[in-house]
Order: sequence, then C-alpha cells, then structure tokens
Amino acid sequence: MNWLMRKCTKCGRYTLSKDKCPHCGGELVVPHPPRFSPEDKYVEHRLKIKFEKGLLNLDEKPYYIP
Ligand SMILES: [Zn+2]
Repeated sequence: MNWLMRKCTKCGRYTLSKDKCPHCGGELVVPHPPRFSPEDKYVEHRLKIKFEKGLLNLDEKPYYIP
C-alpha cells in the first residue's frame, strides 16, 4: 500500500498523513504514483457499468473508449 504514503517536500520525511507533514507542517506529495492514474480507473469503471447495462459491445470494439 505504498501509495498511501506521502513524502514531505519540506523535511523529506515519509508519513501516512494525508494533509500536512506531522513533523514540520510542510506540504506532502506522493513519492511513488500508482501505475494507473485515477482518471484511468474511472474510465475502466464507466466502461464496466456500460458493459453491464448492455451499452457496450466488447465483441465488436474491444478497446473502444467513448
Ligand atoms: Zn516535514
């Protein structure tokens, strides 16, 4: 679950805090971004919903993203 970790841009320490660095109050960044962006996950989620509703024919266009 390393994407839950944040790294402080100020002191460089790692933390599980989501807001600010508990050590110095600096801003936090994700040191190792997940392989797929959240946007991609949403696309996959939308495609799944469409498929389940029968709006998407995966046999004709398996990789078509509307
Ligand atoms: Zn810090």
